[in-house]
Amino acid sequence: MDAAEKFVAKLAGVSGRGPRWRAICPAHESKHRTRSLAVFEADDGRVLLKCHAGCDVDDIVRAVGLDLADLFPPRRDDSSRARRIRKPWAARDVIAALRAESMVGWVLLTDIANGKVITSADRERARLAAQRAAHLMQELSNAA
Ligand SMILES: [Zn+2]
Repeated sequence: MDAAEKFVAKLAGVSGRGPRWRAICPAHESKHRTRSLAVFEADDGRVLLKCHAGCDVDDIVRAVGLDLADLFPPRRDDSSRARRIRKPWAARDVIAALRAESMVGWVLLTDIANGKVITSADRERARLAAQRAAHLMQELSNAA
């Protein structure tokens, strides 16, 4: 079971099918059982969440007994092996990963543009996206 399926399986009122779902947010009380939680599975298997009532991603994940790491697909290589055979990424893999980070940036920047309050989890994720994007751009110049 991939990360998105595992997460969606724990939600109530799920509608839609992968890679986009809507569900009742587990982190806040919804009187009308509104599906305010949007779940999106990125191409690389990571799960992006957006509660339209503004819940923290961390709170949403904890409300179903998971943690942030569960939103990421399991690593293909174990880290010791990956370190031993460290070969440069193929350009297309770098582009795919950059695209995933751009998606995260797009979600966050849309919130900022709409004047939404950015949560600490959003800020943390933005910092991670910036670090990854910088690293990926370096990989891209190595691969070119
Ligand atoms: Zn919520």
